[in-house]
Amino acid sequence: MERNIYAYKCKRCGHVQYPYRTICRNCHENDHNEFDIVPLPKKGKLLTFTHLFNPPSDFSTVFLSLGIVELEDGSRITGQLSIERPTIGMHVRANVEVVRKDEYNQYYGMVFYEA
Ligand SMILES: [Zn+2]
Repeated sequence: MERNIYAYKCKRCGHVQYPYRTICRNCHENDHNEFDIVPLPKKGKLLTFTHLFNPPSDFSTVFLSLGIVELEDGSRITGQLSIERPTIGMHVRANVEVVRKDEYNQYYGMVFYEA
């Protein structure tokens, strides 16, 4: 099963935003029922990134790369990078995977690979 992360598309102006807000950033309407739920695209461009050498203890890794990616629809999302040598502006593709887990839960997020 292919997993997705969902964004909120304004029924009035069509603007897509992520994460959820009760007010559309574009047309400033504030009726929070006026959104359609749409999957975020999985292709985009790497805007910036950083490396964490001491991630929190609930990450099962000693090294973590995080990036901010501008997706094809203009949304921006933070995700893990599974790219050996990331460069700003490179094209990436995402997969929704478990990025963190504790005793009872697992948390999904976008993991980006070189496109
Ligand atoms: Zn709107």
